[in-house]
Amino acid sequence: MKIGFIGLGNMGAPMAQNLVAAGHQVTGFDTATPMPEGVNAATSAANAAKGQDVVITMLPNGAILRAVADEIIPAMAPGAGFVDCSTVDVESARAVAAQAEAASLLPVDAPVSGGVGGAAAGTLTFMAGGSEEAFAKAQPLFDIMGQKAVHCGASGNGQAAKICNNMILGVTMIATCEAFALADKLGLDRQAMFDVVSTSSGYSWTMNAYCPAPGVGPKSPADNDYQPGFAADLMLKDLRLSQQAAEAVDADTPMGQAAAALYAQFVEDEDGAGRDFSAMLPRFESRTRS
Ligand code: NAD
Repeated sequence: MKIGFIGLGNMGAPMAQNLVAAGHQVTGFDTATPMPEGVNAATSAANAAKGQDVVITMLPNGAILRAVADEIIPAMAPGAGFVDCSTVDVESARAVAAQAEAASLLPVDAPVSGGVGGAAAGTLTFMAGGSEEAFAKAQPLFDIMGQKAVHCGASGNGQAAKICNNMILGVTMIATCEAFALADKLGLDRQAMFDVVSTSSGYSWTMNAYCPAPGVGPKSPADNDYQPGFAADLMLKDLRLSQQAAEAVDADTPMGQAAAALYAQFVEDEDGAGRDFSAMLPRFESRTRS
């Protein structure tokens, strides 16, 4: 296929390279980052999008996605796929999809989980929203860049799935970290804590697969001085998107709200910026109840 790729940062560059490696012809545009090897450089987003079978975007937020969409939609041919893999607010995803459909394009919102490692290895999970036809058009590319793509329903549902998942993840990470810090103060050995919880009803992905305690459980960012991994800043972004969505549909999400407030404090007022989101554990360790 002929593919346009807009936004070739930490995630976009390795994703685009996997498409090149699979034999696709990829033309890219980024306002700051140089093109990775094998990707042809376009002089604008519109030029990167023009005449392509599918255009993929991997951008920082909804406002930038909307601005890029305004520029590329008029340049794209009817029937082309528009696959947005960025994590953005549900409203922006639905607005951009409506605009693309009005121009006879096939839009899919398809945020990912798996991080930079998954992008490089081609093992991302895609959560997709859009019509059957649009999903089918994007599917072969999901198969190259990822290991799984779930069609979650209409436009915006991919973003909805992503922020609900990450709201659970943020809340669960906090719960796991505060329990470890409590266990420390109660004199419980961390390995014993892991051995019990990972096989008991408190188990979770954060405990079993991404344990925030160094030297315990499988290798995780905790074993690498809390270098991300998944940065606390990105968790804060996703928790804020979850609360923005909850506000828009009047959903009561007290735990998500508390998690967003705690990550905001950690990233903006304390030393959490640039650290893995599991660094909540040393944070709790260093604190008292008051
Ligand atoms: P990044 O900042 O490394 O990349 C974004 C790129 O977009 C940058 O290279 C930037 O120059 C470019 N850009 C900004 N405005 C542009 C414009 N108008 N036109 C063209 N290019 C423009 O971010 P990232 O880590 O690659 O994340 C991209 C998206 O993926 C975000 O929405 C993020 O939330 C999501 N995401 C990231 C991770 C992760 O672990 N990094 C995991 C899952 C999802």
